[in-house]
Amino acid sequence: MSLSIRDLATPGVRALQPYQPGKPLGELEREYGIRDAIKLASNENPLGPSPLGLAAARQALGEVELYPDSHGFALKQALATALAVDPGQLVLGNGSNEILQLVARAFLNPGDEVVVAQYAFAIFTTVAVSAGGSVVTVPARDWGADLPAMRAAVTDRTRVIFLANPNNPTGTWHRAAPLRAFLESLPQHVVVVLDEAYCEYVSEPDYPNGLAWLAQFPNLLVSRTFSKIYGLAGLRLGYGVASAPMADLLNRLREPFTVNNLALAAGEAALADHEHVRRARDANAQGLVALVAACERLGLACIPSVGNFIAVDVGRPAGPVYEALLRRGVIVRPLAPYGMPNHLRITIGTPAQMDRLLAALPQALAG
Ligand SMILES: *Cc1c(COP(=O)(O)O)cnc(C)c1O
Repeated sequence: MSLSIRDLATPGVRALQPYQPGKPLGELEREYGIRDAIKLASNENPLGPSPLGLAAARQALGEVELYPDSHGFALKQALATALAVDPGQLVLGNGSNEILQLVARAFLNPGDEVVVAQYAFAIFTTVAVSAGGSVVTVPARDWGADLPAMRAAVTDRTRVIFLANPNNPTGTWHRAAPLRAFLESLPQHVVVVLDEAYCEYVSEPDYPNGLAWLAQFPNLLVSRTFSKIYGLAGLRLGYGVASAPMADLLNRLREPFTVNNLALAAGEAALADHEHVRRARDANAQGLVALVAACERLGLACIPSVGNFIAVDVGRPAGPVYEALLRRGVIVRPLAPYGMPNHLRITIGTPAQMDRLLAALPQALAG
């Protein structure tokens, strides 16, 4: 019997499931022969990129013969000032996905356990499995992470816990007091990644800022991204903030040039684009309320969300509804891969995009 290439891969790689991203607009237009499609499938910023970030990226384009600054000195200085942390606490990544991957590679030996919540962001499992970790998925409560149950799932073998606040795809979130109590309850051998990809959208008064806890918890890493509110998903830029010793470990592991010149320049400028962030947050807050109300008028239940998206229960298998929306040029995200076969995740778009969606949705539901 001959060896297949699969047999040569590590057990972690053999166990990987392919990630199912939101369908790109160009793919829909090619496959369905549709023009003017809209994408509400990847929680991108419907207002587009930060104009300041875009201008800086354009300028940086003139110097792409040079390797990027592998330390990202200027961006780290800007982030350190904006976040009131030390530059030595920062790790830059090719999207925050790289940060999650670095944590998995740094702390997981084959067979070590990683605790995640049911319905948690799928990349948590992907990075854990690819590093040889054994994923323990803890049943959710009201669609959100059940923190006491996650604590109870921690064993001597647990090395990493991934937790998104708010979580994607559910939009569920944790208040400060229970989340802090959870962190305090954990043993020292557990690293916690608190993924705050959507934090800039959240305005609830007892929504915690994970950065405030870094001094107390040396095993905590907070990850954030320029992909969402800053509108720079295509440039791939995210960062982690942790204790200086943890950041140092991850920076050693990181390959030097994963963050390119355009991303470095755009991120630094976008960070100062308070106007864009404010506009995006305000537009999202209005759009979220309007979309939830519209879904309720259609008799569809939504999981309460504080992000820039909602998970909607269409009351039947969502696949055909997703397909019917595609045929009408509207791309949303089916959540069957998350074990939520009746849910679609819809990103809050511009008012015009929401009108398109709400014109197509009743037809799509009628079949
Ligand atoms: C979108 C998203 C991210 C961002 O990933 P990037 O690699 O920074 O684009 C991270 N975490 C969650 C939960 C997300 O939904």
